[in-house]
Amino acid sequence: MTEHPGNRPRDDIVLPFQIKAPGLRGRLVRLGHSVDTILTRHDYPLPVAALLAEALALSATLSAALKYEGIFTLQLKGDGPVRMLVADVTSAGAIRGYAELSGELPAEDEVAASPVRSLVGKGYLAFTVDQGEHTERYQGIVELTGDSLTECIDHYFRQSEQFSAALQVTAGRNEAGRWRAGALMLQRLPDQEAIVSREERDEAWRRSVILMGSVTASELLDPALAPAELLFRLFHEDGVRVYDQHALAFGCRCSRERAARILSSLPRVEVEELMVDGKVEVTCQFCNETHGFNRDEIAGFYET
Ligand SMILES: [Zn+2]
Repeated sequence: MTEHPGNRPRDDIVLPFQIKAPGLRGRLVRLGHSVDTILTRHDYPLPVAALLAEALALSATLSAALKYEGIFTLQLKGDGPVRMLVADVTSAGAIRGYAELSGELPAEDEVAASPVRSLVGKGYLAFTVDQGEHTERYQGIVELTGDSLTECIDHYFRQSEQFSAALQVTAGRNEAGRWRAGALMLQRLPDQEAIVSREERDEAWRRSVILMGSVTASELLDPALAPAELLFRLFHEDGVRVYDQHALAFGCRCSRERAARILSSLPRVEVEELMVDGKVEVTCQFCNETHGFNRDEIAGFYET
């Protein structure tokens, strides 16, 4: 062994692992600087920021669905004060997200009891796997039926027959007020050639889900606890093997060119109506960066 797991970054990572019982694998995600950067670019009310932080950590664990280069997106849409919440992760590890708000948030205790129902309301949750124009875009949709984000995603997994998975997620701020988030996913692969009996495999799955459920919020968030160490702590009885970890970092795909393309796709009169003090500004919902275009630049969009 030449690797020293203790020296690897403990934050902003996805760590894939396998439990030595047959057909069980998982991913551990820990977000530090990345999630804090995303949330401090916005000024969301606390429970909205926490929900987005959870969505970011979960989308990083679920992005295992990306087999090739591409983008994994987790989206919530509803009729509550959080109209829309989006988190996306690219196969290269760029992560970003935003929430769209409208109206007042419900009372604190209502939000604490059922964050998804009280904040997002009636609506749906969608996963999208986009791997470029030459592959089929995959989308899975499920109605929002749980109190928490993990309950809603669990509901999706229960409906999906070829896929069993269990999830844990937590998000919060440390003493310095910095956001952190962590998530753990355990996945049961479809049964292949049976080396052990069906009963043994069922038993191994149940045991691993229980062990995973014993993880505490502070273990998921604590930067002093190395991710591989945490997995060992949870699953050492069955044996756990960790793979190479992937780095994550905040990254937005917006650009001035993209903003110009969006504007120039609109009718000129509409764009001119958006003009304030001689310019039109386009603000990216993900990163809050603003791109401004003056009258001459806008006229340029319509010259052929
Ligand atoms: Zn952006």
